Amino acid sequence: MSTTTQESSQQQKHEATQDIQVLDSAHYFHPFTDHASLAKRGARVITKAEGIYIWDSEGKKILDGMSGLWCVNVGYGRRELIEAATKQLETLPYYNSFFQTTNVPAVELANAIIAVSPKQPDNPFTHVFFSGSGSEGNDTVVRAVRRFWDIKGEHQRKTIISRWNAYHGSTVAAASLGGMKGMHEHGDLPIPGIVHIDQPYWAEHGGDLSPEAFGLKAASWLEDKILEIGPEKVAAFIGEPVQGAGGVIIPPSTYWPEIQRICRKYGVLICADEVICGFGRLGVWFGCEKMGFEPDMITFAKGVTSGYIPLGGTMMTKRVTDVLIGLGGEFNHGYTYSGHPVACAVGLANLRYLQDNKIVEKVASELAPHLAQHFEALKDHPLVGMAESCGLVAGILLVKNKASREAFDPALEVGMICRTHCFANGLIMRAVGDRMIIAPPLVSTKQEIDELMRLVHLCLNLTLNELKERGVL
Ligand code: PMP
Repeated sequence: MSTTTQESSQQQKHEATQDIQVLDSAHYFHPFTDHASLAKRGARVITKAEGIYIWDSEGKKILDGMSGLWCVNVGYGRRELIEAATKQLETLPYYNSFFQTTNVPAVELANAIIAVSPKQPDNPFTHVFFSGSGSEGNDTVVRAVRRFWDIKGEHQRKTIISRWNAYHGSTVAAASLGGMKGMHEHGDLPIPGIVHIDQPYWAEHGGDLSPEAFGLKAASWLEDKILEIGPEKVAAFIGEPVQGAGGVIIPPSTYWPEIQRICRKYGVLICADEVICGFGRLGVWFGCEKMGFEPDMITFAKGVTSGYIPLGGTMMTKRVTDVLIGLGGEFNHGYTYSGHPVACAVGLANLRYLQDNKIVEKVASELAPHLAQHFEALKDHPLVGMAESCGLVAGILLVKNKASREAFDPALEVGMICRTHCFANGLIMRAVGDRMIIAPPLVSTKQEIDELMRLVHLCLNLTLNELKERGVL
């Protein structure tokens, strides 16, 4: 193509993009978006994807270091999932499971999920309740937990304890479980009966304690809260094995086993929100297996279909289903899309892909150690106060003073500066305050991880230079 033809084709793409941007601001209400500021810039229009890359409408290729929103674990363009959806759409695009009816993909997927569920001989997983999203999965947790205690005659056990800075979704119940104060302000949350304790974030609360000692201290806040409320009123504790949207907060190894000990002591149910960690992200099928605890319920979504189609759910153990199903009669809860056959068919194809290609095993043996090595090297960078990874999630804390881990003035929005350099240089890395986070697809090759890390270094250096130029450093 001649230079002038290339220029005019680029110009056409630019004009087509602007047309979409105008329509976008006219009628499309985006999630978690300040529309006034978006309208000034115009949204980036993503038009196609393949493997671990996405492309925008102007032809820019971007390495997706976040797997979409922590979900596209098998990468984009996977034929097996596309064909499973197409075939199911042709045979049975929809039917519900309300009218004493069922469908084959839902049955098969529930069985396949139980087959890979954590092995808990004393309290095995027995059933899966399907929903359309992680938020709905957590709404199911709230209702199931309260119903469980009602059936057992412990009607006072209503309170669910969660953590500040947790993310459990955006419906009224899920956002209440979450510990994002900004979300609570929109809609008068939390709803009654949901309380929060501090998160196990060593960099924030650890002080002089070793991470292990801090893990025990952070878990003790749960016991304090249970005693403050009265154990007879506490129904459950919920937490992400590794907090994702809160900034990839990886708890010390002592934390979860101690949480479990406390919950068992007071008979409190443990609910693991595995919407991000589930289905291999930490190099094990479920994050609780890595963090050393045995939950009574698990919420999942995202990775179950690698985000190709919406699906979520709640896995329940024998302890819960013996009561809810064994003694409870009808549970007055369900969604139109519970057990959606197309979503479940895609989920099955996704699980098969993970199993046939030993993806979870490869994350554990090859990719996670490779990423961890890169993260070790990142610690030498002048902007990096902390760099840590767990499986294929990782977080980098950007700091003003490396030695004291002094933070930047939040008004500078250093994380956003870094994120802007990432976008401009073809990398999606998310900013949570001044923590930069990544969650690459589980099918990435080592070479792709090397490329991702090359871009991470480049963007950290560009951020450093910009801060120096502005006189911040
Ligand atoms: N729980 C966790 C841990 C999540 O990360 C998310 C989504 N980021 C949710 C729940 C909510 O899932 P959804 O957006 O599918 O409702």
